[in-house]
Amino acid sequence: MQTSTDLKNLLARIDRRGYPAYKDTKGTYRFQDYVLSIDHVQGDPFAAPSRLSIRVSGKTAGFPPDLYRTPCRRVALQDALTRLFGRLAGQASYQAKGSGHSGLISLSRCGQEVLERTACQLDAKSGDLLLRLEVGFPANGRTINAGELEKILFDLLPRCVGGSLLYRNLDAEKLRAAADLAEDQQYIREALSGLGLCAFVADGSILPRASGVSDQPMKGAVPFRAPKELSVTLDLPHRGKITGMGIPKGVTLIVGGGYHGKSTLLKALELGVYGHVAGDGREYVVTDGTAMKIRAEDGRSIFQTDISLFINDLPNGKDTVHFDTEDASGSTSQAANVVESMEAGTSLLLIDEDTSATNFMIRDELMQRVVHRDMEPITPLIDRVRELYDRFGISTVIVAGSSGAYFRLADHIIQMDRYVPRDITDFAKREAAAYPVHSVPLEPAKAPDFDRHLSPSPEFCGDRVKLKTLGRDGVSINRETIDLRYVEQLADSEQAAALGYCLIYAQRHLLDGRRTLRQVVEELDALMERQGLAALAESRSGAPFLARPRRQEIFACFNRYRGWRR
Ligand code: ADP
Ligand code: MG
Repeated sequence: MQTSTDLKNLLARIDRRGYPAYKDTKGTYRFQDYVLSIDHVQGDPFAAPSRLSIRVSGKTAGFPPDLYRTPCRRVALQDALTRLFGRLAGQASYQAKGSGHSGLISLSRCGQEVLERTACQLDAKSGDLLLRLEVGFPANGRTINAGELEKILFDLLPRCVGGSLLYRNLDAEKLRAAADLAEDQQYIREALSGLGLCAFVADGSILPRASGVSDQPMKGAVPFRAPKELSVTLDLPHRGKITGMGIPKGVTLIVGGGYHGKSTLLKALELGVYGHVAGDGREYVVTDGTAMKIRAEDGRSIFQTDISLFINDLPNGKDTVHFDTEDASGSTSQAANVVESMEAGTSLLLIDEDTSATNFMIRDELMQRVVHRDMEPITPLIDRVRELYDRFGISTVIVAGSSGAYFRLADHIIQMDRYVPRDITDFAKREAAAYPVHSVPLEPAKAPDFDRHLSPSPEFCGDRVKLKTLGRDGVSINRETIDLRYVEQLADSEQAAALGYCLIYAQRHLLDGRRTLRQVVEELDALMERQGLAALAESRSGAPFLARPRRQEIFACFNRYRGWRR
């Protein structure tokens, strides 16, 4: 390992030379409190910025083990440090002048969710810290401007490290609070099932967001307050007693007039599979970790999925047990989304009427009279929703503002009334009793068949696999785009990137035509758990910025890939 002085001398030597001379800086350098590693150097000022990492030994970093004694505390600590470092690097008003990405410093931008990221990783045994960042090495045209890089590496970075990675300089109370909050959230998530619940929304939570393009809490919003019928009190390890609405397992309907806050509640439940940072307003909105938002997704591809639970006897005679299409309809896409979620091991479906295919949700009496059931390939969800719970243990929360058809089947009916929930189960049930009974299918469904075996594609064998991330909306692999826009619980673009790497890793190492998709996802999850997220990328020149996706989203990504050999 070289010293920081070596690096300084090197920079002086290559100043004003052609840009490729920057490649000589690749290596590791000992600074006072940390080791700087230049893992990858960009080829020119316009290319993707260079990748750097900073390692601080556990002894120097000095974080007390209590802050990372469990995985969820460790992830919360890493998240807090990433945010701190990012803030300091951003504040440094210093801006290198030059061409292309000169002087640009970037690292993960964390949103409201607390996610495990490659950006910052703390070794649970040694306490060693690793932080990754990208720096655009400065140039004028294509001529190296080493003076500017020296300012970044010898002035800016040491200050950022000092202010964010050394425990002695940090607000200990704040860090402990972040770890405690994460642990309380995890405690609730783990307690839900035993309490017969699938979600919890604390009193006082702020569910709406500031705007359609901001995840910050809305100012002046009506705080959440549980109806007394559904009010439960939990005793959290750190915060102590907390009261809120427990959504019981089973079938729950959320009704109410337009604009009364139904979708906002559902959205909060969707993201309640993740922890949220303090101040978000949804810190104590916690959902069953396997929950899946289900929606219609016209145009998606479906690969050998058994949708016979909902769709049978298509007019073109197409097989619905191994259903295959490049262009699904609203109802077939939504059916596939349910069945794939079952395959992914969900125990809670979240559905909003606003984004559902009507013919997948209901068939009214009159329509059943006019178009006989033999002529209708779709068994709507309304005829399966009880069965999903009674036979498969899968609960459903449905937002429905326009159809009362589900009243009879629901276990609980919540009305959103000017953003405040009311339990109207008894009233709605009484009213429903006066209406004609909706016919229920006589035959129970055949349990879906998840015995899918995926074969690897030859183009993944070589070294040259092209992965391009499309922000939060998807990834493109070898020019095949995987559209993730409607995988609504994907919270971060780095998760989308990780999904791309999951697919590549599986293609190279796991797919063999024998393993089922379930086994493949199992192994990917185990890899991330055992070797860390960075292992996915198998990169020798520094791991890219990735955030850990849930297993559910790995399934969702594989299911939307159009490149499977048919
Ligand atoms: P619905 O689905 O019932 O039609 P939405 O959930 O879309 O209604 O909410 C309608 C509007 O009300 C949105 O702009 C949302 O931000 C806002 N809103 C939701 N909940 C609250 C609240 N608790 N306090 C203030 N405004 C809210
Ligand atoms: Mg709505």
